[in-house]
Amino acid sequence: MEKIRMTTPIVEMDGDEMTRVLWKIIKDELICPYVDLKSEYYDLGLENRNATNDQVTIDSANANKKYGVAVKCATITPNAARMKEYNLKEMWKSPNGTIRAILDGTVFRAPITVKGIEPYVRTWKKPITIARHAYGDVYKNVEIDVPGPGKAELLFTGEDGTEIRETVFEFRGPGVLQGMHNIDKSIASFARSCFNYALDTKQDLWFATKDTISKKYDHTFKDIFQEIYDTEYKERFEKAGIVYFYTLIDDAVARVMKSEGGFIWACKNYDGDVMSDMISSAFGSLAMMTSVLVSPDGKYEYEAAHGTVQRHYYKYLKGEETSTNSVATIFAWTGALRKRGELDGIPELEQFADRMEKAVIQTIESGKMTKDLALITSLENVTVLNSEDFIRAIRQTYETL
Ligand code: NAP
Ligand code: MG
Repeated sequence: MEKIRMTTPIVEMDGDEMTRVLWKIIKDELICPYVDLKSEYYDLGLENRNATNDQVTIDSANANKKYGVAVKCATITPNAARMKEYNLKEMWKSPNGTIRAILDGTVFRAPITVKGIEPYVRTWKKPITIARHAYGDVYKNVEIDVPGPGKAELLFTGEDGTEIRETVFEFRGPGVLQGMHNIDKSIASFARSCFNYALDTKQDLWFATKDTISKKYDHTFKDIFQEIYDTEYKERFEKAGIVYFYTLIDDAVARVMKSEGGFIWACKNYDGDVMSDMISSAFGSLAMMTSVLVSPDGKYEYEAAHGTVQRHYYKYLKGEETSTNSVATIFAWTGALRKRGELDGIPELEQFADRMEKAVIQTIESGKMTKDLALITSLENVTVLNSEDFIRAIRQTYETL
């Protein structure tokens, strides 16, 4: 059979540990036999980041900007232990943070649902995608431990010297104090990424804040979303038959629990931090969670939501058998290839992605899976496969479709 040809390369960002091991097997078994893969390869493994003073991460993000679509393997974010383990020159920043900053993007996380791995919430029939704003609020706060009585003020000094001053509180004793901010431009980028992704995936978009209490701060988020929706997206949403829906955050939480799923939930930074862990664990498994970074001007970076699965990697190094779930990493590849096919007008590439994802799901639904899924499945007569055999089983299923 002839391989599917590509016209534009995808940006390939290789990574670390167990996911790096899976990366190669996925390419060898599931991608390269079927696709004449064109990729521009960047090695984001920690050793190479260290050797290039992290320039490789910046280069890969710029390539992502140039070509539009990237697929990324999980990478180590260095800490003190990793400094020693890899003999690092510096505690390099998280590659995801660096790439996100360069693309100014928003991360969308969605669970992969299969029969036999049921969500803990009975009403959920379809995946819920979480979009988290990745700038500001409490993550860029300034705090004071108030030592005793005194007056706390909020002061803004304009470039021309004009002052805006508000009393926060007259302290009569010790307490705590916090200042935070956000920027209209960042909120607008977030909004556009969300509207674009909703159109892309033909799903409703929900957004919620606490604007009744936070009459300026949260209200600004609500207003910016509404204004951009009305002026740039309303018509396209109506044409696509999807809805933009704003509500209060507490109302949103209550509605999410009673919903069927099948929509995108845009969250402010803190809400997204908290709710994405709730959604992913309620859907069953971190290993079944995909993640895509979408920039406001339509650049995409696909990856798995989980990390490098370090514990399994150390077993692998000792020559022991591992049963690491490669599903989210496979879906990162299919997501990137499908998007490439869509942008370049190559329907065969889109069909390949659909068929490969179907093969993954059928393999699991037929009872062949990795250990993490076997532990939570409601299916009976399950066969637990090791990392490599699971990928080979997917290839076998693919061949029968
Ligand atoms: P992790 O790699 O997500 O793994 C945490 C645990 O979750 C694993 O030990 C394993 O549980 C389970 N797990 C996660 N993915 C799995 C999979 N595909 N198959 C089977 N089980 C899976 O998180 P971590 O151990 O906290 O972090 C390891 C490294 O990843 C760190 O250096 C961190 O910086 C990095 N990280 C990178 C990214 C990214 O690149 N996007 C994201 C998060 C973390 P059991 O051990 O119980 O089997
Ligand atoms: Mg968190």
